[in-house]
Amino acid sequence: MNAEIIAVGTELLLGDILNTNAQYLSQKLAELGFTVHFQSVVGDNPQRLEQLATQAKQRSDIVIYSGGLGPTADDLTKETVAKVYGDPLQFDQQQFERIRGFFHACSRNMPENNRKQAMVPAFGETLDNANGTAPGALFRDGEKIAILLPGPPKEMIPMFEQQAIPRLQKLQKAVLVSRVLRVYGVGESALEGMVGHLLEGENPTAALYAKPAEVIIRITAKAATSQQAEEMCGKTAQQFYDILGDCIYAEADQTLEQTVVQVLAEKGLKVSTAESCTGGLLSQRITAVPGSSQVFECGVCSYANTIKEKLLGVPADVLEQYGAVSPQTAIAMAKGSKALSGADIAVGITGIAGPDGGTPEKPVGLVYISVANGETIWVYKLLLAHRNRETVRFAASQKALDMVRRVALGLEMKDCQCFEM
Ligand code: ATP
Repeated sequence: MNAEIIAVGTELLLGDILNTNAQYLSQKLAELGFTVHFQSVVGDNPQRLEQLATQAKQRSDIVIYSGGLGPTADDLTKETVAKVYGDPLQFDQQQFERIRGFFHACSRNMPENNRKQAMVPAFGETLDNANGTAPGALFRDGEKIAILLPGPPKEMIPMFEQQAIPRLQKLQKAVLVSRVLRVYGVGESALEGMVGHLLEGENPTAALYAKPAEVIIRITAKAATSQQAEEMCGKTAQQFYDILGDCIYAEADQTLEQTVVQVLAEKGLKVSTAESCTGGLLSQRITAVPGSSQVFECGVCSYANTIKEKLLGVPADVLEQYGAVSPQTAIAMAKGSKALSGADIAVGITGIAGPDGGTPEKPVGLVYISVANGETIWVYKLLLAHRNRETVRFAASQKALDMVRRVALGLEMKDCQCFEM
């Protein structure tokens, strides 16, 4: 079945707000197995909205609207779509009481114009709004369906999840199950070369999505039962594991920092950090994970060379001879962090995040990351050309997390130089 998304609101056309609802709805519809053919934005203008709604109804099985369900005169989505689907609106006393109750709960009287929000489809369905006044609506004309959701995401998302999804799943007449694999250490194009043949299947489908400093693989299977769909996903997932091995660091929503905290906790290991160009981003990401106090000893944000010397014991001659951005300094920082904290694993990061400070020998985007355990010390040279400061800092923290994961699990440390402690 195909679907279409229409966001209503002049604010969207003026660029005052970003159409995040369309992004959210497109992602969710794809997960539910609907093919989205069109996304449009239309202002609060009843003629243009009616024109678009008529066209959308002709070309799409399901049209999802967001916005324009408010109480003001320019909120006309419900009235206009009701006309296109030939479903008159009627007053609903229950909705009226609920809306009035919403105002009473905030010790306010209900303005008269909110009354129009209690008008609901006579033949279609009303979707309750637990987070705001505007109820949503579902209109049906033969096989054609329109679902109307409020504009504010905090109202739209729960209504979509709790009320639209169960209805959409029924229309699909099949169960869809997705499995998400998270990959670090292989870029999107290299990954395509390695697993391209697994991306051609029709059921299950598998697709790659590039995220900041990682790639997501989404496998989706359609079957008569969820057990069958899960088995189908499982077989395809295994094919990805066979090729990518430990580059798949986790599944579903689990981030790399959550994985690191979990692995360290399971192994009973502690980590400490010494960061220069990432300015504490690595320690921030680790400590943002609940339970990280079990595994995180301390983080030193050693921007100035004097602090690298004083707190971490980086020798002055190392700084002088090789410079602050060098494998030698990264190693000395990791060693210094380990000596300071007594942690099992310590990290040192130094680099040039830019936009200034680069030289032909040491360009912007050059970062050295070192990880030390009791016996061995590894150092990795990360070189990210033409990236902005934020991207360089995030990518460096991501690489450091993966190195900690690999050291904790005893996995291969690809492309790292390795020394005895
Ligand atoms: P309300 O009852 O609040 O008037 P509504 O359904 O009429 O709800 P709009 O008036 O169209 O919704 O939008 C209200 C607010 O919701 C906007 O100011 C904006 O903050 C947010 N919003 C609307 N549409 C979108 C969208 N497509 N993406 C993200 N946010 C949106």
